[in-house]
Amino acid sequence: MVPACVYTANPGRVVFGEGTIGRVPEEIERLQLKRVLLLSTRGHERAARQLAQRLGDRATDVFPGAVAHTPVAVTERAMELVRDLKVDGLISIGGGSTIGLGKAIAWRTDLPQLVIPTTYAGSELTAILGELVDGMKTTRTDPRILPEVVVYDVDLTLTLPVAVSAASGMNAIAHAVEACYARDRNPVITLLALEGIGVLAAALPRIARNSQDRSGRVPALYAAWLCGTCLGAVGMALHHKLCHVLGGLFRLPHAETHAIVLPHALAYSWPALGEIQGKLQSVLGSNPPATLFELCGELGLKRSLRDIGMPQSGIEESASRALANPYWNPRPLNFAAIRTLLARAWAGEPPTVISMETHDVNA
Ligand code: NAD
Repeated sequence: MVPACVYTANPGRVVFGEGTIGRVPEEIERLQLKRVLLLSTRGHERAARQLAQRLGDRATDVFPGAVAHTPVAVTERAMELVRDLKVDGLISIGGGSTIGLGKAIAWRTDLPQLVIPTTYAGSELTAILGELVDGMKTTRTDPRILPEVVVYDVDLTLTLPVAVSAASGMNAIAHAVEACYARDRNPVITLLALEGIGVLAAALPRIARNSQDRSGRVPALYAAWLCGTCLGAVGMALHHKLCHVLGGLFRLPHAETHAIVLPHALAYSWPALGEIQGKLQSVLGSNPPATLFELCGELGLKRSLRDIGMPQSGIEESASRALANPYWNPRPLNFAAIRTLLARAWAGEPPTVISMETHDVNA
């Protein structure tokens, strides 16, 4: 049965392959850009400078100051360059932190963005921008934020360390899992989501065994494209809310937090998923929350929030903040049950369906 639905596809052009960084000059030409600014983290500065060289006088400069969480102070420094150099377009090369900086500038200027993602986080395919303003993480959605062109080059992912690849891949799986039960889900996105989950779950262990294995790297980047499309197309639920709260309160590493919380958040919503249970089982086996928890272990990822720096004393406040503003979740949100979920994730216990009957619904 195909449910009644509305599907809005985001505009955007994707170039996918190996060695595709070589196609950036023609993509810049296509966008009719003559004065681009390249953005990167310090770690990716060399790659950004090499690309700038390849672009010749169409590259004005490199700003290698991107950092996690997109602090507004960094964006303002980059904005000075944008104004001084009369930049007409942006190239972001890196993970979600670099892409976030490009989006922050684009939101302020509406400059076109060409993005070259080097992780699996998926930010390149969304019109969502998270920024750090006065120490608080704020999120906004605007069409100006969505990058115009995405160039996926598998070669650039070969240097991504196994631990970062694994966490980033779990971050991508999380987008697709929540897309399957989104309130505004639709059959097209569900297809992409299931393909993305299945392909990543098979590819990540290959990468963990050998980070240079292209039979893992190629499908992983393809699946990250699919999962990012899901994130950009439908709304998310409890899992993304919890990770947002934890990241904001304790500055926990983004992708690692997603990897730890996902099995628990999925187990929480599991009883309410109906026919979606079977779809997730078709790609993750009979017990998807347990499969995801085991996958984290197989990939060598930490499985407890305690181990990535969350204080035990923060469980109560995190549960409160996760419920502060009402939002969609397939299973009703219950304070005591979410506090139990967080306590289990903090301690690194396996995911379990938390019964609401054992909790005070009005707690
Ligand atoms: P990241 O961009 O912070 O990168 C993690 C680390 O890996 C950095 O040190 C980076 O320099 C390094 N790195 C990246 N690619 C590499 C490569 N190929 N080789 C070697 N090192 C490499 O991490 P991330 O997980 O990609 O992004 C996290 C950020 O993205 C968070 O701020 C998150 O909020 C944001 N995000 C936003 C969206 C959105 O739609 N707005 C979606 C996902 C993530």
